[in-house]
Amino acid sequence: MINVFQPSLGEEELAAVGEVFESGWLGRGSRTSTFEAEFAAHIGVGGQHVTAVNSCTEGLFMAMELLEIKPGDEVVMPSVSFVGAANAVASRGADLAFCDVDERTLNPRLEHVTEAVTDRTKAVVVLHYGGRPGWVGDIALWCRERGIALVEDAACAVASTVDGVACGTFGDIGVWSFDAMKILVTGDGGMLYARDPELAARAATMANLGLLQSSGLAAASAGVADRWWEFEVSSFSRRSVTNDLASAIGSVQLRRLPAFVRRRRAIAAAYRLGLAGLGTLRLPPELPEGHLSSEYLFWVQLEPQLRDELARHLRKRGIYTTFRYFPLDGVSAYGARHSPAGAARAASTTLLLPLHQALDDATVQQIIDEVREVAS
Ligand SMILES: *Cc1c(COP(=O)(O)O)cnc(C)c1O
Repeated sequence: MINVFQPSLGEEELAAVGEVFESGWLGRGSRTSTFEAEFAAHIGVGGQHVTAVNSCTEGLFMAMELLEIKPGDEVVMPSVSFVGAANAVASRGADLAFCDVDERTLNPRLEHVTEAVTDRTKAVVVLHYGGRPGWVGDIALWCRERGIALVEDAACAVASTVDGVACGTFGDIGVWSFDAMKILVTGDGGMLYARDPELAARAATMANLGLLQSSGLAAASAGVADRWWEFEVSSFSRRSVTNDLASAIGSVQLRRLPAFVRRRRAIAAAYRLGLAGLGTLRLPPELPEGHLSSEYLFWVQLEPQLRDELARHLRKRGIYTTFRYFPLDGVSAYGARHSPAGAARAASTTLLLPLHQALDDATVQQIIDEVREVAS
């Protein structure tokens, strides 16, 4: 089967893991601090603004905690969102308000967000569908003017920018994922950015049980003469830190990221060229001027029956396809009161084709040929 997602891991990552083994310390240590500094530089922020975490979902839970989202509050997010984002809100006892998305890009436009906002809205959570930045600049500005927090789920957008500004840094908090299906992978892992330095400092403490000293050893090393094992906590927090094994892999993957994204952009361009001019199939709109996508997902849109037929045909030919993210208004536990129409249409017409940096030209051509057999 040709995969939709596939990581690229090789000798360099293995060597980095080997070094961690030899160091005798697998936990959070210098390699994680290094990875944090490198990632901060990559997204163009100061190192004190980021904290490495053990998953993007955990970062989303921390975001809701940092923003003190509580029962009675409302959080707006597109219906096409990741389940972990909704769980992070619902776990606080807050209400979810699902907004619509633009049918062609599956990102919310500003008016989709503003339609869903009420006087109980404390935060907005957006993702960048497939790596496309979307209307994040407009949404960030609108939220800031009203004192509504903006959280960016930048899991798809590890190398996405608008006029050079990294997705994930437009709002108040941004979170990234390095799980096994992303572009930059560490097994499991994520990063949290907070714009406000005080919030960023709280995030770092929160990630480690709310402890006001990182460890007894650190206190002893810092010159505490007696009882270096005593501690205080500032919040009743979980343990959300990552480890040096994941971070060592992350540093290598971050160095390789530009090449990954170049290859993904070339594959997306080949799909656009190879699938142009088909009457039954729509391609994603061209990116607006100044926008760069990580090209995490590549999708085509067809009428629902033909979409399903294409998925079945490709699977028979050994080409796996899928759709993300199943609209959350369809998940009964979230108690949505309505189903946004654009999201519903997108969910019934959109199909994700394989897109990863290890796909060679011949395989891309094979996929194009198979798609053209159904979508003439
Ligand atoms: C993968 C993904 C996540 C979750 O990331 P984890 O690190 O697996 O928790 C969140 N949001 C989006 C949009 C994702 O694609």
